[in-house]
Amino acid sequence: MDAMRLVILGAAGRMGRTLVRLAHEAPDLTVAAALERPGSLALGSDAGQLAGAGHLGVPVTDDLDAALAAGDGVIDFTAPAASVFLARETARRGLVHVIGTTGCSAADDEAIAAAGAQGARIVKSGNMSLGVNLLSVLVEQAARALGPDAFDIEILEMHHRHKVDAPSGTALLLGRAAAEGRGIDLAETSVRVRDGHTGPRAAGTIGFATLRGGSVVGDHDVILAGEGERITLSHHAEDRAIFARGALRAALWARNRPPGLYSMRDVLGL
Ligand code: NAP
Repeated sequence: MDAMRLVILGAAGRMGRTLVRLAHEAPDLTVAAALERPGSLALGSDAGQLAGAGHLGVPVTDDLDAALAAGDGVIDFTAPAASVFLARETARRGLVHVIGTTGCSAADDEAIAAAGAQGARIVKSGNMSLGVNLLSVLVEQAARALGPDAFDIEILEMHHRHKVDAPSGTALLLGRAAAEGRGIDLAETSVRVRDGHTGPRAAGTIGFATLRGGSVVGDHDVILAGEGERITLSHHAEDRAIFARGALRAALWARNRPPGLYSMRDVLGL
């Protein structure tokens, strides 16, 4: 089969540059186009040079139609409004659309699911790494095995100082796995912030705590705290390449799937 032609959205971003470099190195992928928003200082620069991968002859552009016409799929680690807009475009063209963007609202997620129903082959996950997706399976099992009365679940995350959404997409993914294990709805049971005189912990809730600073790529602890004992399930991301590799694997996986909305757990068969 021919190499899959990828369009990298947000090509000048932290994840975009990592994706350009790794897609260029992969034998079964080519970087067909690199997109940034109109007015971006990166427009016209060579995407490979921005990524530290040498000259690729792929200039960063804001011409969405030309870029999408050149690709079999789009990798998108940008911002919710950009991902929702693009999902309508990938649906119209029946393209693969891998979405790593976090911070999407419930309405954003509905619009993305609708695009999957209308023709796009979407893989969306708050974390594209093998390690975190395996961790989510373990968290679900632990939450199911330990039950809601004896153990409280708290999720602690830390990221670099530039991150704009909280809790992280990964913390929410792990929270959903814990809620799934307990057979409850995360939206109804999560506690996102504690401040002042909060009173005792409400039974059955799933708590989140957020730290921001420095250059931390992503640390997550799921703490199951019982009377006299505590279990901590952790993941530490040391390099953005783990997310990029997962996203590229997802694009190849989705190439021959019917339109729809898939998760990384589907891609990895977990
Ligand atoms: P970043 O460095 O800020 O990169 C985002 C890039 O997207 C920027 O270059 C930004 O341009 C561009 N962009 C924004 N809106 C756009 C639009 N409408 N059209 C084209 N380009 C647009 O951020 P990052 O650290 O790479 O993270 C990006 C997203 O991925 C975040 O939501 C982050 O949480 C998420 N993430 C997910 C995973 C995962 O595994 N799922 C892993 C890491 C990060 P401007 O600078 O001009 O705004």
